[in-house]
Amino acid sequence: MRYQYWDEKTETMPRGELEALQLDALRAAVARALGTTYNAPRLAAAGIRDSSDIRSLDDLRRLPFTTKHDLRESFPYGMLAVPKEEVVRLHASSGTTGVPTTIYFTRKDISRWSSNMARSIFASGCTSADVFQNMITYGIFTGGLGLHYGAEKVGMLVIPAGPGNTPRQFRMMRDYGTTVVHSTPSFLLHVQSKMIEEGIDRADLKLRKAFAGAEPYSEDTRRRIEALLDIDVYNSYGLSEMNGPGVAFECQAKDGMHLWEDGYLAEIVDPDTLEPVPDGTVGELVLTILCREASVILRYRTRDLTAFYTEPCACGRTHRRIHRIKGRTDDMLIINGVNVFPSQIEEVIMSTREAGNNYLIQVEKEGALDRLTVKTEVGPEIFMDDARPLNALRERIRHALQASISINPKVELVESGSLPVAEGKAKRVVDTRPRDV
Ligand code: ADP
Ligand code: ZN
Repeated sequence: MRYQYWDEKTETMPRGELEALQLDALRAAVARALGTTYNAPRLAAAGIRDSSDIRSLDDLRRLPFTTKHDLRESFPYGMLAVPKEEVVRLHASSGTTGVPTTIYFTRKDISRWSSNMARSIFASGCTSADVFQNMITYGIFTGGLGLHYGAEKVGMLVIPAGPGNTPRQFRMMRDYGTTVVHSTPSFLLHVQSKMIEEGIDRADLKLRKAFAGAEPYSEDTRRRIEALLDIDVYNSYGLSEMNGPGVAFECQAKDGMHLWEDGYLAEIVDPDTLEPVPDGTVGELVLTILCREASVILRYRTRDLTAFYTEPCACGRTHRRIHRIKGRTDDMLIINGVNVFPSQIEEVIMSTREAGNNYLIQVEKEGALDRLTVKTEVGPEIFMDDARPLNALRERIRHALQASISINPKVELVESGSLPVAEGKAKRVVDTRPRDV
């Protein structure tokens, strides 16, 4: 395969040069952080009073971690490192886990973010000849505008479609000859189900690629979307604290996401001890954004679980790859004392051919015990009024789940299209157990 690069020099830079560049950028970031009311005392407490205290990249570990709590404490302007007149935009997180956190951008910050995005989009093999339908939420959430600016930089024709309204999405795909879409994996699965329902002929569409991100999904889900929609799906990772999308993205080798290390310093740590884990081991991703002027965030604990690849990529890029995000540390369910990640359940459902495209995980208290119920839509070839194949399918899913998560769940099969579909990030878990306080 021939790989294309947006910025070949940076993307294939020898590690030594890349690290020299990171060290300079880290010093500059620390200098800016020292100028903020929130971070100056925190850095001083760690013995860092001047950027010259950072002598090597190893000194990164002397810096305090930043958590969502810090971002809330310093709200609204405690971490702002430039005068407010220089700020041109703000974005906030989706608030999946509480009060949203706010990030500010100067004009240069927006331009850098767009370049990272353009680089990511180009790595997936797209060009200015593509027509890009951006089916993700616009507005204060970073997904919409992030990809939008990057795609414009590449020169693609961008349709700022936003999510929802599948009949309109299909109409636009057909009318404008859309070749690339961007969405959450759950919405892409929903689009495929709707395509069948609305009798859309795939042959009328020119779709060839999709970017899918904003929420965790398994390799089985990727394969399912690719097979059902007959497209190539590229994994896109980012978070608002680190600009938004464009932190890490898959290249055409489609084997892990390149984390753009000229813009981010990445560590993977054990979430309990906060010590680094060996390469290849799963831990919590910690990110430092290097060249942002307005919001300087050092050692941000993403709570996302992943591992570094240990081998270089076939595409020739030198920026390290991370594995598909396994989930968030705070996604983990403890059911009767057993740790379960929703991604383990997703894998089983998505690899069961007769299962449909949507599912819901319910956890409730039943007496002293926790009860796990997995509701799964069935695929189009299963008839709800034919009990035998339905029972067989239910048993198969139950067995596979039990083998994977060591818990015996209740499995309920429901009609295709009957479970709720979110326009943004999917809400897959309903946990009604009373919380300990
Ligand atoms: P919130 O933390 O409120 O959800 P964001 O909208 O910034 O805020 O979402 C960022 C989070 O979304 C990431 O930390 C990660 O948990 C999740 N995410 C984004 N892209 C992916 C992806 N490709 N795979 C898995 N999870 C992702
Ligand atoms: Zn690659």
